Formats: sequence, C-alpha cells, structure tokens
Amino acid sequence: MAETQKLLVATGNPGKLREVSQMLTGMPFEVLSLQDLGISMEVEETGATFAENAILKAKAYCASAGALTLADDSGLVVDALDGRPGVRSARYGGEGLTDPQRVELLLKELVEVPWEKRMARFHCVIALAWPEGRLETVEGVVEGIIQYEPKGTNGFGYDPIFHLPERGCTTAQLETSDKNRISHRGQAVRKAARLLMELGVAAG
Ligand code: IMP
Repeated sequence: MAETQKLLVATGNPGKLREVSQMLTGMPFEVLSLQDLGISMEVEETGATFAENAILKAKAYCASAGALTLADDSGLVVDALDGRPGVRSARYGGEGLTDPQRVELLLKELVEVPWEKRMARFHCVIALAWPEGRLETVEGVVEGIIQYEPKGTNGFGYDPIFHLPERGCTTAQLETSDKNRISHRGQAVRKAARLLMELGVAAG
C-alpha cells in the first residue's frame, strides 16, 4: 500500500474516537471523524446484535461520506442480568442518563449479586464499509468482573466498574494505550487494520 488512505471513523462517542485514532496512529490511514466531514446524521441502532448495528452504521455513514468507513458497535454483557445491557448499553436506563448514572443503575441491579457471579464482558464488532459495496466485520471480547464501586477516571462508559482480574484494576484505571492493548475495541481495531493492510485499502 503506497499511499495514505482516508478512513472515516464513524462514531459520535469521543471516548471511542480517541481510542481508535490512537491505535491507528503511525499507520497509512488519514483518520477522519464525522465532525471533520460535517456529518451530523444519527443512525438508529435497530439491530438485535452488535454486528447488525455496526453494519447499519458503517453502511449509512459510508453512503453519506463516500469514503471507506469504520464503525463499531460495542457494549457490556453481564451474566447475572442475562446479557443486559448488551446492545442497549449506551441507552441503558433511558436516553437522558449520564455515564455515571448508568453505572449507578447497574450497581443497583447487581446489589445482591456476590463477587463470583458478577462476570461480564465487553464486546466490540467493527464493520468496514467501502463505497464500492464491500463489507467486512471483525470482533473483540474482553472478560471482567463488575466491581462493587467505581474506580478510576480514564476511559468512558462502564470502565470505572469493569474489573480486570489479571490486572487487579478497572479499565478506567488504565492509560488509554494500556487499555487499547487488551480491550475488546483494541482487539477489533488491530484485526480491522490488519485486514485493511492485507486487502490493500483501496479494494472495493
Ligand atoms: P454504542 O456502540 O455506540 O451503541 O455504545 C456502546 C456503549 O457501550 C457505550 O456508550 C458504553 O456505555 C458501553 N461501552 C462500549 N465500549 C466501552 C468501553 O470500552 N468502556 C466502557 N463502556 C463501553
């Protein structure tokens, strides 16, 4: 791949944009945000799975931008809640809540649940859409335990209560680069970047 390729990272979530942009630094992509392209359209996440929603977003933003587009759909799957909040992680408890309010709500729902039953995982599916119609998906998963109390100020969303047993801290206590090394999104972005390099990014 000789030249830098424009790549729209289609997310309105500043936390996701920061993580993905940092991971693609030094690669032959010119990362563009929705803001850079003046795209304010919102895509309704009507899919039943992370993959369906990622594909919906990637296709819609690709059509709007006319550029190679990366969109992710991600969320937190909690065993004791039968997989909730899952694809509804960003809207858990209603549209108007803040991230800390969603964390509080989740902790309330788990108040009776003992440590050994608080297993959870972050899922991320990335969809890549080419203006010529090609579509690819890749995914990443990271396992953790929902802590009793929030800890740490980095990251976003549910990071302050997502405890990583092998690190002995939450994902909100990790620097972005450290979180990217192990996170669901980190795994998926590395797979997406590898795929783009293998295909030659211009493939459509
Ligand atoms: P969506 O993919 O835009 O539908 O939203 C995903 C939601 O899942 C976010 O708003 C967060 O609430 C949660 N989430 C996804 N990835 C992470 C993460 O890396 N840390 C914390 N929360 C996350």
